[in-house]
Amino acid sequence: MSEEKKWQKWEGEGEPEGKGGLSSATASQLSEVDGRTRQLVAVCYKCGTQTYVGVDWKWFTCWKCGGTVTEMIA
Ligand SMILES: [Zn+2]
Repeated sequence: MSEEKKWQKWEGEGEPEGKGGLSSATASQLSEVDGRTRQLVAVCYKCGTQTYVGVDWKWFTCWKCGGTVTEMIA
């Protein structure tokens, strides 16, 4: 089972609702901060950078370009 999600640009004001935060360039950085190890690889729509996010996050802020990215609802 793949845990990949689709991500898209956040068009709203401020931050999206739900769980989320600043993404990490490496998996270990995020697990240290969050105290958990379950992570997804996501790709920023804006700069194409690969980034690690929490598995249950609904949105993230790109660590590299600062763009806000939200989960694409199919
Ligand atoms: Zn980016």
